[in-house]
Amino acid sequence: MNAFDELKLSYSGDISNESWIRDYYSVDSSYHQIYPELVCFPKDKADVVTSLNYASKNGLSVACRGAGTSLLGQSLSNGLILDFTKYMNKILDLDIQFGTVSVQPGVVKGVLDKELKKQNKFLPPDPASSNYCTIGGMVSNNSSGPHGLGYGSVLRYLDHVDIIYPNGEEGFAENGICDSRLKKILSPLISVHDKLASFYPDVSKNSCGYRLDSIFDPEFKPQNIFAASEGTLSIFDSLRFKILDLPLFRSLFLVYFSDVLSACLYTKKILSTVPVAVELLDYSVMDSSIKLNTLNENGCLLFVEYFYQFRDKISNIHDLLKSNIYPDGTIVEHAHDIVSINNLWHSRKNALNMAIKNTLGNRKQFTIIEDTAVSIEHLHEYVIYLLSLYNKYDLQYVIYGHIGNGNLHTRPILDNHNNSDDQLHSKQARILENITYKIFKKIFEYRGTITAEHGDGISRTPFIKNVYNNFVYSYFSYLKKSFDPLNLLNPGKKIP
Ligand SMILES: Cc1cc2nc3c(=O)[nH]c(=O)nc-3n(C[C@H](O)[C@H](O)[C@H](O)COP(=O)(O)OP(=O)(O)OC[C@H]3O[C@@H](n4cnc5c(N)ncnc54)[C@H](O)[C@@H]3O)c2cc1C
Repeated sequence: MNAFDELKLSYSGDISNESWIRDYYSVDSSYHQIYPELVCFPKDKADVVTSLNYASKNGLSVACRGAGTSLLGQSLSNGLILDFTKYMNKILDLDIQFGTVSVQPGVVKGVLDKELKKQNKFLPPDPASSNYCTIGGMVSNNSSGPHGLGYGSVLRYLDHVDIIYPNGEEGFAENGICDSRLKKILSPLISVHDKLASFYPDVSKNSCGYRLDSIFDPEFKPQNIFAASEGTLSIFDSLRFKILDLPLFRSLFLVYFSDVLSACLYTKKILSTVPVAVELLDYSVMDSSIKLNTLNENGCLLFVEYFYQFRDKISNIHDLLKSNIYPDGTIVEHAHDIVSINNLWHSRKNALNMAIKNTLGNRKQFTIIEDTAVSIEHLHEYVIYLLSLYNKYDLQYVIYGHIGNGNLHTRPILDNHNNSDDQLHSKQARILENITYKIFKKIFEYRGTITAEHGDGISRTPFIKNVYNNFVYSYFSYLKKSFDPLNLLNPGKKIP
């Protein structure tokens, strides 16, 4: 019997090396493609351990996979893919009294949202991909979404995690305590934590590198080390989150500005009204349901949302917002009931799909600079610089996203002619390289981040060191080596 047959016999879940399955798992939502050797669908912890043992014996790497909606190639591998969506997709426990929910990593966020809603509860981070993406993927990328402004990213809600180390050992982490191996790994960080944290980007959301800054926050939160770790340190077996009560009242306003720069200029004033979301939608990514007569082709909309406990606040907030966008912004729509609010949000959630539809033939959008964030103080100046670069190279682009967090999703549109000898191709490649270099340099100057929520993956890993410095980076390398000395888990992501 060969090793593959032996593996199959000892597995409760499914394993496949069929070429159509390997084809399917060779791509995610990035422009990378890597063919895995095997695709596994573990049923339980024992299957995960069996997969890890098989991989280490046969010199293969292992990448976990949720829905594969990552945009930078972080769920791709040439070894084993472990897909958690088929079997390890259960909600394990909903504890209303303590306000927590425990899940397996393959639970789809949208499914969890529906269950929590029945109890008037929610887990706030709300990626636009929530109808597909899984909790394991969200924690690994430290995902957030439109309401990241008011509620932060998933890191804030992670309460407990059960993990499997690359050698098959089990571990756990929660507020104040963790298994002895993790305690030993994290102990050298205690004395240097404040120094490390001082070199982190000055932004409200960050998925770049490992989040060493969040493990003493101020009390010991060892579970936070796994947020944004992209499956490079250990594998999640189950996770517990703090959940919140749904707000009683909500109001959503659509504010029109004649161009993106004015919208940036007013964002700080809008933030003073304490919204839970301020989102930008550029004309180019609006779907037909939202394209209003008043809009011109440079125009944009801000989605500004408020949550509150008392209904009488609604009229106050309308006046307050109006005075803070005067004279350049106009409220063109507002909604105060859940159905109308959800209908309006649908257009914002559809932005990336609309952006993708914008590209025809060889014209492709490039994702490398698509998730930068700067502090609100630098936002206007940064966007002037960004747009002037697009202008200089005469490029079309899309721009939308979490402007309230200084986190804009922007993609230049370039010709991706696939003949590498072609002069046009090399010219476009040079332009992309130039733009990336210049934009990232600006981001470093502003102490921003190259990724606020989508992660590093294959594409951004080479730039992580520049966001931080040699001192911080030496601890990233230390962390990876301590968890995964054989470099089995998702090699090439986070640490090149
Ligand atoms: C249309 C679209 C819209 C999007 N909108 C948003 C948005 O608004 N906000 C946002 O933050 N992101 C957004 N994203 C990015 C992406 O959807 C999120 O990062 C999402 O959380 C990834 O989840 P996933 O289940 O697809 O994970 P995958 O892409 O499958 O995997 C992501 C990472 O998680 C790791 N992983 C998965 N399971 C485990 C496990 N059990 N143990 C350890 N590691 C594991 C993988 O190895 C990988 O590194 C969007 C993407 C698309 C395509």
